[in-house]
Amino acid sequence: MTAAAPGRGPADGGPPASAAERAAATIRPDIQALSAYAVGHADDGIKLDAMENPYGLPDEVRDAIAAAARATALNRYPAAHHDALQAAVRAAFGVPDAAALLFGNGSDELISLIVQACCDAGDTVLSPVPSFVMFEMSARFHHARFVGVPLTPNFELDLPAMLAAIRAHRPKVVFLAVPNNPTGGRWTDAAIDAILAAAPGLVVIDEAYQPFADGTWMPRAATLPNAVVLRTVSKIGLAGLRFGYLAGPAPWITEIDKLRPPYNVDVLTEAVMLAVLRHKAVLDEQAARLRDSRDGLARALAALPGVIVYPSSANFLLARFSGKMSGNAVHQALKTRKIRVRNFPGGEPALADCLRISLGTPDEHAALLTALHDILA
Ligand code: PMP
Repeated sequence: MTAAAPGRGPADGGPPASAAERAAATIRPDIQALSAYAVGHADDGIKLDAMENPYGLPDEVRDAIAAAARATALNRYPAAHHDALQAAVRAAFGVPDAAALLFGNGSDELISLIVQACCDAGDTVLSPVPSFVMFEMSARFHHARFVGVPLTPNFELDLPAMLAAIRAHRPKVVFLAVPNNPTGGRWTDAAIDAILAAAPGLVVIDEAYQPFADGTWMPRAATLPNAVVLRTVSKIGLAGLRFGYLAGPAPWITEIDKLRPPYNVDVLTEAVMLAVLRHKAVLDEQAARLRDSRDGLARALAALPGVIVYPSSANFLLARFSGKMSGNAVHQALKTRKIRVRNFPGGEPALADCLRISLGTPDEHAALLTALHDILA
């Protein structure tokens, strides 16, 4: 890269000189105004901030992964259709034969492709708020308008408000995280049916946390005319792999697929997914263990002074700290004890003083509760 020609600069109509000036003059102003998605990372301590499965894979599964990686031809591009993985995902996760299936580099990528496929500049993306932040971010990235419909003060879906907003804004895309992140609640089937009936465009039923909940929309993925079901393997033990899938009627999936980068799911991801899905029972057992631990942790947290815990159908609990310390102070005090949970500084006002705590191992729950007793004493 050469610098701007001597004697020329912004003042005399030439290009700005430095990389910072050139980027500022070229990158979209709305992108410059954004902050990057915050990814928490910690190599030590107790990590309860990102809804990861705390249990590692057993040796037999690791050995199967190693063998699969060894047999993978890294010199070749991934195949176009991932036929074997399509069959394995359908069988493992109950995707109906009649539904079309699309794979993503995490479900994040699929959220972005959906918005790109549906929205012209200025079109509306709508979801309850607070919900998964990437719904709004993806809308912004693609010049769509985001309408957030506040949940009730108890973080329940405000169905009349949702239906009124859908009538008023005619959204191209409605995102429903079911169960919802970061609040944990699962909207009723009747409420979702009412939204499906009212929505003029596509409704995305994002079941990232379904493995920890009762019920799923997957059996209806082929038959609803305006809905698709989004899933990820991130919460059940494979967050590092980056693999998500979208199931729905072929007329929707075929169009969204046109925007997919051709090699978005790489050969190692495919090989590892195939190997792990042969041991899917391990993932199911870990998810069940986490789910079984949820009520006990919720009761123990709710017994702390000034703490409210919201009902959760996910692998995390949202708790509000209204005692002598603010949520941010509790977050900081936990951090100094190397216990990471998620706070929401400066974000959604409804989440003030709330901390989102991912389910961990029994030992991690015990350490968290000991620390909180100490902090809140
Ligand atoms: N949907 C929801 C509701 C989420 O909470 C998340 C992760 N926080 C995702 C999708 C994205 O998951 P991933 O990209 O890891 O598949």
